Amino acid sequence: MSKFLNSKLLQLIPYAPGEQPQQQEYIKLNTNELPFPPSPQVLAVVQKQLELLNRYPDPSSARLHKALARHFCVEEKNIFTGNGSDEILAFAFQALCPNGAAFADITYGFYPVYCQLYGIEQQLVPLEEDFGVRVESYAGIDKTVILANPNAPTGLALAQRQVEELLCQNEDRLVVVDEAYVDFGAETSVPLVKKYGNLLVVGTFSKSRALAGGRLGYAVAGEELIDDLNRIKYSFNPYNLNRMTQAAAIAAVEDEEYFEETRREIVAVREDTRQKLQNLGFECADSLTNFLFVRHKTYTAEDLYTELKQRGVLVRWFDKPRIANYLRITVGTRQEMNRLIEKIQDIL
Ligand SMILES: *Cc1c(COP(=O)(O)O)cnc(C)c1O
Repeated sequence: MSKFLNSKLLQLIPYAPGEQPQQQEYIKLNTNELPFPPSPQVLAVVQKQLELLNRYPDPSSARLHKALARHFCVEEKNIFTGNGSDEILAFAFQALCPNGAAFADITYGFYPVYCQLYGIEQQLVPLEEDFGVRVESYAGIDKTVILANPNAPTGLALAQRQVEELLCQNEDRLVVVDEAYVDFGAETSVPLVKKYGNLLVVGTFSKSRALAGGRLGYAVAGEELIDDLNRIKYSFNPYNLNRMTQAAAIAAVEDEEYFEETRREIVAVREDTRQKLQNLGFECADSLTNFLFVRHKTYTAEDLYTELKQRGVLVRWFDKPRIANYLRITVGTRQEMNRLIEKIQDIL
């Protein structure tokens, strides 16, 4: 680091994204993208935006917000969008955690990084032995609650009524629900936004909408919370969504048929893979996401990770307390998962 770095940032440990190899030689099951290309409608509209690249995009993303509002059955004033949901989460940590942030000991690894970056006090709330979230553990906590639902990397989810319980514990405490994986089978909390002013739902087009490379996150909440997020956005980068991404996201959200078809396929392949992994001696809890969180009864996760990588398959292994013996495996195409199973059989 240079001698110019603000000393407050000396201790900051940045988030380490999963590997993004530049060669195509790997079967990539490590960062929970969709294995399919975006909807064909997306390709057509992005092409049209390229010749307009000399012009700034619409800073209010009005057409996109209209499409999202229709999709979520809310009004446009209840929608915010960001450069990936990571940007929205960053804004929420920066602006909406006046008493600190509380989240699970095992969850999305970016949350503690934001706490460090913005100097926010964090409180870790341990998951149960089986990695379930215990709602009662949050009673009495006045820090902003950050809940990944479904949780990552466990793949487990709370039902909508449990999220409602969390909201009711203290209506003066904000709950941020990060729904990055909700489209693969969990219940969304979006309908609760009308009833609860202390709820901010955050989601992304990176997983179920096949737009990880486009960077689009969204938030749904009461008007006042949306105003707060806009206050940060317009003090930071009003043009946070480029014009290709705005157009792509409108096309993606309007192509319901492609969305249904691809997510149904992922869920089917997930269940098929889960069965096969269990037959090979893996412990493999239910997943309501596009990944499986697994542990083998004899092989260590580190060894499996390394052996799979040598055979051209990338999965995610976190060298962290409680989960160091688990692998997180993204659900790819049927073909990719068959290859995964073959490689595992080979290793075992
Ligand atoms: C992938 C992921 C995100 C970030 O998604 P982007 O929209 O690509 O920034 C946020 N939260 C969780 C839990 C995720 O897994």
